[in-house]
Order: sequence, then C-alpha cells, then structure tokens
Amino acid sequence: MADLNQGGAVGLVVKLPFATPEEFLAKYGGNITRGGIYLRAKAVRPPGTAVTLDLRLAGGDRLLYAAAVVHFVTGQQGQGISGMGLKFGEADAATRRFLDSTIAILPHAQTDVPPVPNGVGPADYTVPALVAAPSLPTVAPAATGAGPARTPAPGTFTAPASPPLEMVTAEALELNTAEPPRTGPVIGIDLGTTNSCAAFVRGNKPAVLHSREGHNTVPSILAFNQRGKLVVGHPAKGQMLTNPRQTVYGAKRLVGRPYASPIVGQIKDRFHYEIAAGQAGEAAVRLGDRIYSLQQISALILREVREVAQNQLGQPISRAVITVPAYYNDNQRQAVREAGKLAGLYVERILNEPTAAALAYGYGRKLNQRVLVYDLGGGTFDASVLELHDTVYEVISTGGDTFLGGIDFDNAIVEYLLEEFRQQTGRTFQGDRVALQRINDAAERAKCALSERSEMRVHVAFVTMIDNKPYDLDVVLTRQKLIALPEKLVDRTLQVCDEVLQAKGLKPQDIDEVILVGGQSRFPLVHEKITKFFNQPPSKGVHPDEAVALGAALLAHSLGQLEGVVLIDVLPMAIGVGLPGGRFKPVLERNVALPASKVYTLSTHRDDQTELELTVFQGDSERAQDNEYLGTLRLAGLPKRPRGTVQVTVTFEVNNESLLKVVAREGTSGREVVSTFTTRDTPETVKARLAQQEAEARPVASGVAHAAGNGAAPVAPANRNMAVAAPAAPVLTPDAAVVSKQKGFMGWLKGLFGRA
Ligand code: AMP
Repeated sequence: MADLNQGGAVGLVVKLPFATPEEFLAKYGGNITRGGIYLRAKAVRPPGTAVTLDLRLAGGDRLLYAAAVVHFVTGQQGQGISGMGLKFGEADAATRRFLDSTIAILPHAQTDVPPVPNGVGPADYTVPALVAAPSLPTVAPAATGAGPARTPAPGTFTAPASPPLEMVTAEALELNTAEPPRTGPVIGIDLGTTNSCAAFVRGNKPAVLHSREGHNTVPSILAFNQRGKLVVGHPAKGQMLTNPRQTVYGAKRLVGRPYASPIVGQIKDRFHYEIAAGQAGEAAVRLGDRIYSLQQISALILREVREVAQNQLGQPISRAVITVPAYYNDNQRQAVREAGKLAGLYVERILNEPTAAALAYGYGRKLNQRVLVYDLGGGTFDASVLELHDTVYEVISTGGDTFLGGIDFDNAIVEYLLEEFRQQTGRTFQGDRVALQRINDAAERAKCALSERSEMRVHVAFVTMIDNKPYDLDVVLTRQKLIALPEKLVDRTLQVCDEVLQAKGLKPQDIDEVILVGGQSRFPLVHEKITKFFNQPPSKGVHPDEAVALGAALLAHSLGQLEGVVLIDVLPMAIGVGLPGGRFKPVLERNVALPASKVYTLSTHRDDQTELELTVFQGDSERAQDNEYLGTLRLAGLPKRPRGTVQVTVTFEVNNESLLKVVAREGTSGREVVSTFTTRDTPETVKARLAQQEAEARPVASGVAHAAGNGAAPVAPANRNMAVAAPAAPVLTPDAAVVSKQKGFMGWLKGLFGRA
C-alpha cells in the first residue's frame, strides 16, 4: 500500500501516495481501525516489537504519529501477502482526533485491534507474547519521507508532556476588538441554534440575504477540518459526520451560561465536542489544546453572516439588530452583544425572536390584534402573546421551555428505531456516539420528509459491529407512527401556551392569530393540535424560517425613521436575590413590562458589620440554585454601626432589551462605600454561602421597598467584562454627585456583575 520504510529497529516512516486523508481512507479505509493499522511490508518485525509509526501524506503533512506494537504478521510462510498489523499505543493529539472521529465512523473500525484485511491471508500472532502498548518516544520523528527512519533506542518511550490549555485570543481568530463604527446600513440577523440568517429592507420590502452559492441561511456551525483550517457555515456542516469532535454546533444553547450551571451540566454530554470551563468559569469549547469562548464561536458565525450581507449589499456592514430567544437571561444577552462586537458589528438592538416574528407578520398593516407567536425551533420552545396596535408591538406574556425542540422529536424517533433494531436482530444496539449521530441524522431526515409523504425507509448501512459482525439499521417509518411518537412533546408546547395565556387571564379564543415560527413548527401534528386548541388554523402569513430575520430587518429599518415602531417587551423571567437557606426572592417579577426598575433595601444584620453581599439570580424557581446565577454584588467599607442601622438601597433596572443594570447606594452615613464584584463564585459556592448565612441566623435583607418608576437613579453603563475580582473604581452618577455635595461624599455602587 505504501513505501514502507523500515529502518534498523523500530522507527517506521510511511509516506502515502495520497494527498488527503479522504483519499487514503477511500482506498485503504479497510486497513485501519481505531486501534491499529495493517501495513504491507516485505520485511516484517515479529509480534511484540515496539515501533514508532509516522504516517505521512504525499505532500508531507503528517496523518498519524503513534507508538505501536506489532500485533500480528501475515504472509510469512508463503501464504498471502507479507505485512503486519500494528496495534496503536499512545498517539499525539492530532492522531487521536483523526482516530476518534474519522476512523470511528467506518463500521468495521470500532475495535481496539488492527484489522486483518481481506486477501492478506491468516494472521500469525504467535512469536513472543504481546507487549503492552507503549507511550510515544520524546525524540522527534524522522523528517518527512526522507531516508531511513529514525530509530529510537529501545526502552526510551516516555509520555509526552501535555501542553497546558490556553484560551484562544480574539486576535488569533482575527476577530474585532475595537468598537465597531456606527455608520452605514443596519441589517437584521437571526442568530439561530441550527442556522443563522441576515435580512435587509430595500424599497420598504424586507428580504433575506443570500450567499453567493444561493443559500439563504448559514449553518450555525464551525469546525477545524482535517488540515486544521477553521471553516464556518456550510463547509463546517459538511464535515459534521466525519469529524464530530472538531465540529461545534448548537452554541446558542451554551452561550452566556456558567460551566457549573445545572443546564450546562444537563446538556454537555449531548454534544460531540468537548465543553470545558473558560477563564471566568463560563461554559466554553475545547478544540485540541485550546479553549474557545462561546462569544468567539458565535462571533465567527456572525462574521460569516456579515460577510454574506456585505457581498450581497456591496458595501461594508457594521451595524445590526440581532435576535435572541425571549427566554434568554441577562448573561446570555450580554454575551450576544459581545459576540456582535467581536464580529465587527455594532449591535443596535437585541430583539426578542417572537417580537421579530410579530413584526414580520404585522409591519405596515395597521393591525389591531392579539397574536400568539408559537416558536418551535431546533432546541427550544417559546410562546409569547403580543398586542399589536398599529405601530406598537407590546408583548404581554411570554414563557417557554429551554429543553423542548426538534432535537427531542429526533430523539423520540431514534429511540423507536433502536427498539426496532433490537426486535429485528435480537441484539441491543452497541454503537458509539458517532454511530448514534448517523442514526440521528437519518431520523431527522425522515422526520422532515414525512411532513410531505406517508412512508419512508430509514436505512443506515454498517451502523455497528456486534461480536465482530456488522449490522445495518433498516426500518420503514410511516407517517402515522412518526406522528404518534412525539405526541407528548406537542402536548407540552400547548401546555406552555396555556400557561402563557393564563398568566394574563386569557383563553385560547382571545387570540386573533397564531403565528408559527421555527423549523419544527412545520410538523403536521403541530398544525393539527394548534387548530384544535385555538379553534382556528395557524396563520400562513409568515415563513417559519425567515420571519425572525425579516422582523429584525424591519426593526433595523425603522430605527432610522421618525415614526418607527414602538416595541414594549416584558421580562421573561423574574430577577431577584438569594436569601439565606437558598430561597429566591424575586425583585422584578416575570412578565413585568420593560423598561422596569425596582429598589431593594438591605441592612446589616450584625453590629459593626462592614460588608454586605447580595447574590442575584434570574429564573422562576423558588430555590435560588435552580435559577441562573447572574452575579454577586459585594459592598465593603460600610460604617461600623449597630445592626440594622446601616442600609443600602439597590436599584435593579432592566432596559427595553431585558439588559440588567444595578445601582447600590449606602444611605446612612457619608462614608465611602467600596464595591467589589466577584467573578469566582459558582452557583455551588453561592449556595454553600447562603446556607452558612442561615446558620448564622437572622435575615440579611429587608424586602423590596418600592418601585422606582421613572425617577430611578441614572446609572453609569455597567462594565460587564471585568474578569477578575478587584475593587471597581467608583463612578459617580449625576444623582450621586448631587448627594455627595450635600453630604460630603456619598458612597455608592454601580451594578457590575462578575461572571460565575
Ligand atoms: P430552527 O432552529 O428554527 O432552524 O429549526 C430547526 C428544527 O426544525 C430542526 O430540528 C429540524 O429538524 C426541524 N425541521 C425543519 N424542517 C422540518 C419539517 N419539514 N418537518 C419537521 N421538522 C422540521
């Protein structure tokens, strides 16, 4: 198969006549497994010999570098072809990736031993006993294909030092770090879980922007290809099956979440790539030896979308309205803003997806209607009720389930397929993640196809090996069966609709129009059940995949107009504080109209207490730990006074984009209060501290004092990027400055939340 270059003892440099790994696999995929490789060779080494294999492509790029042991030999007694099977031991990171991803999808390759290819004759394992898999030698491998192979001295194998993991810098990814210019046209961007899409209004008509290849969406996927090159969008999607560990998708579900949050804990094992903790404890992605933040990943996708827009509009684009799910919390919204900036976009507005869809439905139509936006996408479900009065779009109630989407429909189908496999073969399916991904893909394809037809064969060839025998998955799926499988999921969406209606005392008949958004809303059972529940069929007025981007473009367009649209949103989840014992006290309630602000007062609970701490969460659970931790406000340098006499008022202010700012003011003395904001807390440490505070008894905080309304203190923009716990430089608000003149100096605090 190749120019096998055996040197004196154990170094093997093999130069392949193929330019790419794909070419090699197409021709000789049967000679390699995850655990080893078969090489033809005139002179072979006896089983048990330790070798260092350096397999190179024709151009010199290394394909594989591993320590190995000769596992068997063939063709030694004149029977068959002369060669040997090498069992891999330790391999370098690139080789591991190659073996774990590319090779693992070959049905025969799910094994830890080298293959005995057809036609090479019987394998002879007999000579000495097998040697345990060695580690890589520290010596550098031989230069590409040049001369005889280097021969490490026997016994010099040592484990290579694993390089420390590094956060990749924005500069390394050629991302933007400066403030983008606020000039030129504004585009609308739907940053989706599965696909992202840009739209623009021309001549008063919004339209989705197409790439040069004619796609109207960019898959929200990025990957490092086999040559280590970063690719985004369609090329990244194209290698999802062959290189899953290096392909990042679904970033939208992770961005802005702490690594230690319960949600990340629940979903991280569902991804084929590795989710790790970033520098400040946030969820991040590990690719090779580097850690990428989800803001960077989202930024790379946004940059691709921006380039599509620039190419089509023929001018630079640096401003955008970007949509997010209504259910996104403050951290997530901030993270999307940051991603926009890294992509070179000034984010004019973060817009809720249902509001965008309602805009696409009602813009310019002078409607007077109450609509429900039903948004069932790849990963999440949202339902929002909006009242449209001409140019005013007011969200009055919203709710959702962050764990309900197309993926769950696919899972229900996969479960059924695996049960059919068991019944047909009498064997339990034993494939790995990659095999499951192949079944998942087939299930999703069948799901979409069966929206249009009544029956489909789901066939995944060589999907698994059980006891060295390959098996196919081959099931005929009928539309009837498909509809029955995820019925409970559709029922759950209607339960959410019901809750969202009930929150405002509404009934299904109070809704004038139901607008469907999100790819999964095309599922026939969704139409059927919605029609029954609302006693009317859903609207045909919007395109489920394009409505959100079009709505964002319409808002972008309206920003420059004198009589633009007015959007009134609500807070999707309560924002409040953690109390001793782990309880959660909402300060701003769910569904409160935005902008909103409220003041929370807390006082010292010990004599001479000089520090107070407030942990802030967002969510609807009564238990703080079940909600999303937003940060800790730490107030130090309080005057020493009897307990209860030092009071701090904290103003929670949420703007019309659901972004939170907090101002804290110590009102009982003229002494300066220094604020520090922690970035090291995780929900677990916060929970432990709350429990400890309970042990110390007495409540920390007194209740909400009053709604501040329009008279709320103006606040300095919160710096949300602070990475380390350090005293924040106090910044005077105009309001605080006035007070400081009257009282000497008024200590005050600005809401600046560190990241958990
Ligand atoms: P989105 O996040 O809005 O792009 O939605 C993606 C989800 O919609 C994926 O789970 C798709 O499988 C699903 N989807 C797309 N088209 C269809 C269809 N015709 N029938 C059922 N589900 C679909």
